[in-house]
Amino acid sequence: FISDKPEQVCILGATGSIGTNTLDVIRRHRDKYHVFALTAHRNLEQLKLQCEEFEPKFAVLPEAELADELASFIKYKKLDVEVLQGVDNLEFVASHHQVDTVMAAIVGAAGLLPTLAAAKAGKKILLANKEALVMSGAIFMDAVKKHGATLLPIDSEHNAIFQCLPEHFVEQGIEQCGIHNIVLTGSGGPFLKKDLNQFATITPDEACAHPNWDMGRKISVDSATMMNKGLELIEACWLFDVKPEQIEVVLHPQSIIHSMVRYNDGSVLAQMGNPDMRTPIAHAMAFPERINAGVAPLDFMEISQLTFDRPSQERYPCLALASEAMKKGGNTPARLNAANEVAVQAFLDEKIRFSQISELIQQTLTSTEYDEALTLEAVLAADKFARDYAHQLVQQMVTNH
Ligand code: NAD
Ligand code: MG
Repeated sequence: FISDKPEQVCILGATGSIGTNTLDVIRRHRDKYHVFALTAHRNLEQLKLQCEEFEPKFAVLPEAELADELASFIKYKKLDVEVLQGVDNLEFVASHHQVDTVMAAIVGAAGLLPTLAAAKAGKKILLANKEALVMSGAIFMDAVKKHGATLLPIDSEHNAIFQCLPEHFVEQGIEQCGIHNIVLTGSGGPFLKKDLNQFATITPDEACAHPNWDMGRKISVDSATMMNKGLELIEACWLFDVKPEQIEVVLHPQSIIHSMVRYNDGSVLAQMGNPDMRTPIAHAMAFPERINAGVAPLDFMEISQLTFDRPSQERYPCLALASEAMKKGGNTPARLNAANEVAVQAFLDEKIRFSQISELIQQTLTSTEYDEALTLEAVLAADKFARDYAHQLVQQMVTNH
């Protein structure tokens, strides 16, 4: 049935790149969507503006000092917003009985517990926070199934694959649907053509200057190392119930084809569009309907060329690390993700070099222990010990500089 009451939306990570794009889509459809809760980490000024414009029932900040400051602002502006403080309240708003839809757009492992809370509360989850799924894999997918949650991918590649799959793929599995494999496309980031001898001197700003997408700094560095594609490969394995061998990673520098599905009869379905995250966001929000996302129509005369290539192992060692981690399974993807988060932050803080990111991840994986990780506790433990180990490696790398 189609309800005429607006859908109540909770946005985890409202102040980020995905969060603000989500609000931009909502702004165009205020009759369909109502912002129920907004959460942020440190970007208080942005959250203030969002509270003024959307007047959510709740605004959540993990840190008490910032929450107090927001509360005074809300009072001064006479807004009808309740400010909540502390990480537990991320879970509270994500699972609130009045919420229909949760946009999971926190970056990194910090998003796992609130996103899982949304799954356990049977919400419609719009998943941008790939790290949460990479870490918890089967545990997250089981929670979605068990509690009747709906999971829709926001990552542009996974959203594209979802659009190219037949509707019954969830019940039947992709082999029964006559599918040969999945083609995961990636731009190759800003260093696709850069001389490998110059990798040691890459600066954070250079790594964050993505040619096609405007994103948060962590995912921008991940795109430059192609760990982003590695995390996406793992994400695709869980979302579509496939093995790493069933996914082919193809370089496509224009970012116009967002990914493809190859069928046994020789057909290949691709989803295309301008590189603008409002397309997958609007697709998932309105699914199965279609709404205006504010994205310009794709102009083929303007693009003129779509090109493809094989990713080089030497240029992108993180891609193989991620694929191997998925094949090993258990807590390996959680350890990979934790080491990567630490390495990327250390690179952004100019403590380690760009080329040391993959070294640090590899060393962490070989030096921390494998475990089957069948419980959430085991996943969180793996995250913690890999993180601690990676921090020690950063210290050693700093000393040896
Ligand atoms: P961002 O850095 O722009 O925003 C991150 C958001 O998370 C902010 O609102 C921030 O306040 C919040 N946050 C950060 N640390 C937090 C913590 N410890 N506790 C609570 N909240 C915290 O990142 P982004 O680019 O919007 O990416 C968000 C997620 O979406 C990532 O997982 C990313 O991989 C994924 N994603 C992003 C894009 C994109 O185009 N930006 C595309 C595909 C997938
Ligand atoms: Mg992506």
